[in-house]
Amino acid sequence: MRKFVGAHVSASGGVDKAPLNAMKIGAKAFALFVKNQRQWTAKPLETKVIDAFKKNLEESGIAPKHVLPHDSYLINLGHPEQEKLEKSRRAFIDEIERCRLLGLVKLNFHPGSHLVKIPKKDPDYTEKLAEAERHCLDVIAESLNGIIEKTKDSGVQLVIENTAGQGTNLGYRFEHLAHIISRVEDKSRMGVCLDTCHTFTAGYDLRTRETYEETMTRFGKIVGFEYLAGMHLNDSKPELGSRVDRHDSLGKGKIGWDAFRFIMNDPRTDDIPMVLETIDERIWPEEIQALYGLIENR
Ligand SMILES: [Zn+2]
Ligand SMILES: [Zn+2]
Repeated sequence: MRKFVGAHVSASGGVDKAPLNAMKIGAKAFALFVKNQRQWTAKPLETKVIDAFKKNLEESGIAPKHVLPHDSYLINLGHPEQEKLEKSRRAFIDEIERCRLLGLVKLNFHPGSHLVKIPKKDPDYTEKLAEAERHCLDVIAESLNGIIEKTKDSGVQLVIENTAGQGTNLGYRFEHLAHIISRVEDKSRMGVCLDTCHTFTAGYDLRTRETYEETMTRFGKIVGFEYLAGMHLNDSKPELGSRVDRHDSLGKGKIGWDAFRFIMNDPRTDDIPMVLETIDERIWPEEIQALYGLIENR
């Protein structure tokens, strides 16, 4: 068994409930929010919650490396305003600390957004956009360097997720991920999470054997599979290259089942958490089973 599939399960009622929710759906991996994802602050994790989480994780048989916590949606490590940037950095450090306390070893995050408004009719639109993006990627790397320095003892791997590139979100080109990693001093703390919906809507096709190989080869060349620390398995409501982030249940969107068969039979995706963020959680048990059913003998 080299594939570890699960879903982003609920942690309502306490993070210690998440491993139990994962077990219920037959998951061998899972994602969770380690605090309320829509609020800046949360009370510290209580010892009894930490102990219960560890006990439940142990019972689930899921290894810490197959748990992929997701950071808060409020955090923007590339924020153009200093005060908000500092707030994001502090909140991210708090999340790393929560992961460490729970015995977890990875934290998945979105790179950040430059938030610069450039009128489309500006004659220098392309150059100004490229400059705003480049600057933001540098700020993100600077954020990570400071954060890694301040959390030296935690060892938590920081896992950047590729994005659909909606609005001013960065991370929609593999080059963005490579740019950030190249500027991070301690690369041993860095990882990457590929979200299939984001990959597809950012313009990288996965639907045929040929396009899947082409996309994965590009990822390997530009970023490198040594950084691949997790995947999000989602179908996509929008079209290829639409730059819109709307997930769908597997096989019901524009990507289709073939891409997931290629992934489930690709040794480059062995031993990492592969997490469903699909829209109908009632069918997660079936989706997980269906994914395992795609594995051919090797
Ligand atoms: Zn995400
Ligand atoms: Zn995702």
